[in-house]
Amino acid sequence: KRILAIETSCDETAAAIIENGTTILSNVVASQIESHKRFGGVVPEVASRHHVEQVTRIIEQALEEANLKPSDLDAVAVTEGPGLVGALLIGVHAAKAMAFAHGLPLIGVHHIAGHIYANQLEQPMHFPLLALVVSGGHTELIYMEKDGHYETIGMTRDDAVGEAYDKVARTLGLPYPGGPHIDRLAHEGEAVLTFPRSWLEPNSLDFSFSGLKSHVLNVVHNQKQRGEETNPANLAASFQESVIEVLVTKTRTAVNKYGVNQLVVAGGVAANKGLRAALEKEFAESLTLSIPPLPLCTDNAAMIGAAAFYQLEQASFAGWDLNGRPGMEL
Ligand code: ATP
Ligand code: MG
Ligand code: FE
Repeated sequence: KRILAIETSCDETAAAIIENGTTILSNVVASQIESHKRFGGVVPEVASRHHVEQVTRIIEQALEEANLKPSDLDAVAVTEGPGLVGALLIGVHAAKAMAFAHGLPLIGVHHIAGHIYANQLEQPMHFPLLALVVSGGHTELIYMEKDGHYETIGMTRDDAVGEAYDKVARTLGLPYPGGPHIDRLAHEGEAVLTFPRSWLEPNSLDFSFSGLKSHVLNVVHNQKQRGEETNPANLAASFQESVIEVLVTKTRTAVNKYGVNQLVVAGGVAANKGLRAALEKEFAESLTLSIPPLPLCTDNAAMIGAAAFYQLEQASFAGWDLNGRPGMEL
């Protein structure tokens, strides 16, 4: 079965065609990063405008690259939320138009479910499993007993880890989005600075990154005030070491507590080389570890098509009243 999937929740306009939730027939992503860079972050109105201009062309390109016609499709899936409301609506309306015009069922997908199911494009998901979600807006540990069942067992109490990366990068004068730049710098430097780790209460599976972020920002500002040079590579390495140690340790606690055999990693920060290496070192021998390839970590529509498949199998369809849901819960 083939699903056309559309993703417009933030600043990439994306469409993909996925077969049986596992095989990518096409995967097109138009990033708007260049347009948002000079503002240092995503400007919602600018994002919506780009989505309107791009979405039809991107859908056509996804069909072309898969060498398919709309009549070859079995369903249309779209990111329903969470995200920017104006951005989500463009995808939702494009999906409705495609589904209505071609007599196809419509499926609404949660963006984070998409990030998690990106793993299904790499290897089968074996339940029960644990998902470590690390993205621009989310940092969560999610226990999944089966398809579509999400139990959040830990989450950030303040900043998402991607957000902390982007703010630290901004303070160092690096371009948006800063995560990949910090990652690169971290490998050039050494973690010589002692930065805090926020463990919270003993055995807590929750996260907190705002303290670390503020600490790093203060170090940079104080050095500037004293006229001292900041070594960005060492700073990035020290920051990244703190983040990774907390993520890996809490994931280990959750894996042991829930006794899962599979760990799947999801979201843009899963592209982080340091984190990937640390997770492999900690888990590769004791359980099945799944981390999506880099292009499937950040926002794309292939992951939405992967997550939509079990919904298609369960005939869990959306009505024509499907709406963008900026604060949608998993
Ligand atoms: P969400 O998925 O929570 O709604 P989002 O869609 O904006 O948020 P993603 O696209 O999943 O976020 O991920 C983008 C984030 O990932 C950004 O914060 C970016 O800096 C971060 N990121 C991307 N690559 C890396 C990397 N190599 N190291 C660290 N962070 C990274
Ligand atoms: Mg993005
Ligand atoms: Fe995302």
